[in-house]
Amino acid sequence: MRKNDVIYYNLYQALSEKACPVCQCKDQAVGSYLDNLLYEFVNDYRTRDRLRETRGFCYDHSWALQRMGDPLGQSIIYADLIDYLIPSIEKGELDKKKTLLGKNNKCLVCIQEQETEKRYLRGLLACLRDRDFREKYHSSVGLCLPHYELAYQQVSNNNIQAVLREVQINSLTKLTAELKEFIRKSDYRFAGELPGEERDAWIRAVGLWVGSFNTKKQQQSILKQKETD
Ligand SMILES: [Zn+2]
Ligand SMILES: [Zn+2]
Repeated sequence: MRKNDVIYYNLYQALSEKACPVCQCKDQAVGSYLDNLLYEFVNDYRTRDRLRETRGFCYDHSWALQRMGDPLGQSIIYADLIDYLIPSIEKGELDKKKTLLGKNNKCLVCIQEQETEKRYLRGLLACLRDRDFREKYHSSVGLCLPHYELAYQQVSNNNIQAVLREVQINSLTKLTAELKEFIRKSDYRFAGELPGEERDAWIRAVGLWVGSFNTKKQQQSILKQKETD
């Protein structure tokens, strides 16, 4: 993997954040895909056709798109989907294979998401052969558990396996220490102590366990909400 490759660059940048680099790159790619989709839908009939076929998006991606705003773009998409669906309802055409919401058709964003994830996982293993990247990886929080498992299963090189293991153990050891510090300071006897780095450890723990919850912004908003409670 060359240093000027976009996968290398994106993963390298993501290693500075306190979240799984594969999750971050995947979320970023899905975000741009959703962004482009509104534009493509209006301008490209193939995207429109495919979206009609899948009858929109899955639950998660429908709401992800909704949260991105763009009321006009979404009005155009849904007006089109509804106009396309009404005749099928009228004719009673909806057979068992094609349920009303097209459950058997895979959401376009899900397909894109899975492909991106595979690309970045393979990319990460290739990047770890590079010394600079490996050094930076050592200073990172490693991967979320689902991506760690996938990466570990895919790698055949013993040295790279060892790097993955070492970084993961260091990261989890640090995280559990922070969680314990959070618990300690929650005791009324230590309530006067100022919060430190451990203040958002409970959110990072969930992210490392199941995969990052799309974007830091959402983490920050949860944290802010917690502080004002
Ligand atoms: Zn991940
Ligand atoms: Zn989806």
